[in-house]
This record gives sequence, C-alpha cells and structure tokens, in this order.
Amino acid sequence: MLEVTNLNVYYDNIHALKGVNITVDEGEIVCLIGANGAGKTTTLQSISGIIPKREGTVIFEGKDITKTKANVITKNGIAQVPEGRRIFTGLSVLDNLKLGAFTVRDSQENINKDIEKIYERFPILLERKDQLAGTLSGGEQQMLAMGRAIMSRPRLILLDEPSMGLSPLFVEKIFDVIKTLKKEGVTILLVEQNANLALSISDRAYVLETGKIVKEGTSIELMEDKSVKEAYLGA
Ligand code: ATP
Repeated sequence: MLEVTNLNVYYDNIHALKGVNITVDEGEIVCLIGANGAGKTTTLQSISGIIPKREGTVIFEGKDITKTKANVITKNGIAQVPEGRRIFTGLSVLDNLKLGAFTVRDSQENINKDIEKIYERFPILLERKDQLAGTLSGGEQQMLAMGRAIMSRPRLILLDEPSMGLSPLFVEKIFDVIKTLKKEGVTILLVEQNANLALSISDRAYVLETGKIVKEGTSIELMEDKSVKEAYLGA
C-alpha cells in the first residue's frame, strides 16, 4: 500500500534521513521506533508532504506521491496526526472535526454521520463539542486530533507519538481506538517513544537510528531481539 524508497531528507546541511526504506501493507499496523532525534517525525512528515524530500520516492496505492502537495495527499487518503496534536485551539471541538472533512466531497448529511461516529468512539468529545479545543486536556486533545484525522476518511493514518504526555488511562483509550481502526480496515504507520506499547500493538516494526533503518522485522521478532530489548525495551 505504501512504499517508501531511499528517502533522503535534509534540514539545511543536517542530513536527517539517510536512505530510509519502509513498506506498509494494507491492513497492517507498522511502527517506527527509535531514540529522540532519530528521524521518526521527519519520516512521517516527509511521507505526508509537509517536509520536502531531497531524494527517494513515495508510492501510495500504486501512485507516485513523492512530489504531491500535502493537501492533495490528504485527499488521496493519507491523514496525519502530528506530534503535539496541532488542533485549532481557538475553534470549538465540533469545528475542528468539521475542518477534518475539508477534503471530503460528500453531502452534509453524510459528514454529520461521520461526526456522530467520532462521538461514539470518543464520547468525551460530544460532551465537549462546543468547548474551545485549546481548553481540552492533553488526552482529550489527542482524541480530537485523531477524530479530526478520521474525518478525512483516510485509508492510511500516520500517527506520531499518540501516547506522549498522557496518563495510562488515556493511553489505553487511544490504543483501543487504534485497534478498532485496524479492525475497520484502516492501515496505520505509528511512531511511538514507548517501544513496548508500540510493539505490542503492531504487526511489523522498523528501528531508526540517526536517520537510518538499522533493524526491521515482525513486532514479535523485535520484542525478542537482544539489542532491541537492551536499547528500547528497558531490559
Ligand atoms: P523525537 O522523538 O525527539 O521527536 P524524532 O525521531 O521524531 O525525535 P526528528 O524530529 O525527525 O526525530 O528529528 C531528526 C533530526 O532532524 C534531529 O537531529 C533534529 O534535530 C533534526 N531536525 C528536526 N526538525 C528540524 C528542523 N526544523 N530544523 C533543523 N533540524 C531539524
């Protein structure tokens, strides 16, 4: 479904990604683990067209999207939930959800049905629907960011650090929603600092170190890998 080949990204003269290759098959959850600064966020943002690529190709559902603009990539079926959420803090919860559907060509009635579905997944967002998004708690903002991404009816979600800064209860809720999305057929590329959690929920994983993929395998294989255990799983 997604094929990233020889991705090279620079920030001025900092070579942040050095030939990254990643594939994601339809229906999979694939995770990317690595230390701070390894290039995880850069990988997601260059796939979604936010950061320009110096070299390499990105193919999504057979189509070359290497040079496609971010808003067109969203329209093509990829949604990103960025680190730090980036919701519209000055708008209500409901308006944030509505904005998530800006690329969807469908009747208002069907878009309203999508909003109802988001409220079923995240009942707290219904309770808070008229509240300014900036006044939500961190966990609620994460739910809103995911809800907003789902509103674009993505086939692939790029999810950046969904557990960051959240209490265990919220983390559990967010990861339950990730599992439900997978069951519904959404494919997910997940970046997560908490490698234990990421490997427990994903099918396959890549380990990124200073801009390079140094290891890949099924999540079960990586969970049992000695060097992964030592470096990332606190063993
Ligand atoms: P973290 O888990 O800390 O968010 P990460 O694996 O997501 O880390 P990136 O944010 O992708 O890492 O950063 C990769 C490298 O690129 C780092 O060395 C970082 O300092 C650098 N970098 C990221 N964004 C910029 C930028 N806007 N300008 C310059 N350098 C950047």
